[in-house]
Amino acid sequence: MSASLLRARGLAPKKALGQNFLLDARAAERIAEAAAPSGGTVLEIGPGTGALTRPLLARAGRVVAVERDPDLFALLGEELKEPIAEGRLELHQGDALAMDWLPLLTSGPAPRAIAGNLPYLITGRLLERAVELAEHVDRAVVMVQLEVAERLVAEPSTKEYGALTVFVQAAFDVERLLVAKAGAFFPRPQVDSAVVVLVRRVAPRAKEDDALRALVKGAFGQRRKTLRNAWRNVFGWSTEELAARAARAGIDLDRRGETLAVEAFEAMAREARG
Ligand code: SAM
Repeated sequence: MSASLLRARGLAPKKALGQNFLLDARAAERIAEAAAPSGGTVLEIGPGTGALTRPLLARAGRVVAVERDPDLFALLGEELKEPIAEGRLELHQGDALAMDWLPLLTSGPAPRAIAGNLPYLITGRLLERAVELAEHVDRAVVMVQLEVAERLVAEPSTKEYGALTVFVQAAFDVERLLVAKAGAFFPRPQVDSAVVVLVRRVAPRAKEDDALRALVKGAFGQRRKTLRNAWRNVFGWSTEELAARAARAGIDLDRRGETLAVEAFEAMAREARG
């Protein structure tokens, strides 16, 4: 479908925009089911040729899609004329990272979701956006490289567990929905991908602010160091002050940051917030 739609317009996939179009219709259906289990509004990042947009339209009350590529934006405008005319689909052309997502998400009814087969070069920044907006997002269902999916679902004390894990799991419960082999895309990427489902937690495990960010950055910037050393200069505390605050937070400073659960980072961030 993608290949013939592109060919008919004399277009080729653009590598710089991370264009690997999803060919697996069943995977697209499952993403749509997970993103819009009960109608609502879905913000789709990078609709491409619409592989995911179509099943999303079948389930969500409203889809708002942001596509950077002007050629694909024009193609989608023609292919999806009907839902656009009916007000069920709103297309925007531009860089999703340069846009304010909040008015796009809140332009339609709740529940509100983010979905997309994300361009791999900007996956991290797109996920950061979802975390920043977590209080307005009920769920996010995204296709990412398998290695990123493993980091998102990681448990403490594993090599995949890191800053991204902590920030995302602070706000969301995360589950892997499916694995999509490289052959499920056109053109075929170098690596396999996976879909992860992020469901907003009623009670976040941690508050994403400067204190949490500084602690997480300190802990994972120097993974091999004990927390005593990794956090030595984070807030300009004396050794005694750091020890006292860690003790109150129930954290053993001889541990390494990669062993700390999200809740422990939050306990220490509370100490830093005073
Ligand atoms: N959703 C389609 C699918 O699954 O077949 C396309 C997915 S493809 C991996 C990523 C899409 O994101 C492409 O259509 C690409 O042009 C678009 N894209 C890349 N960078 C973008 C950006 N900064 N803002 C919005 N869209 C972007």
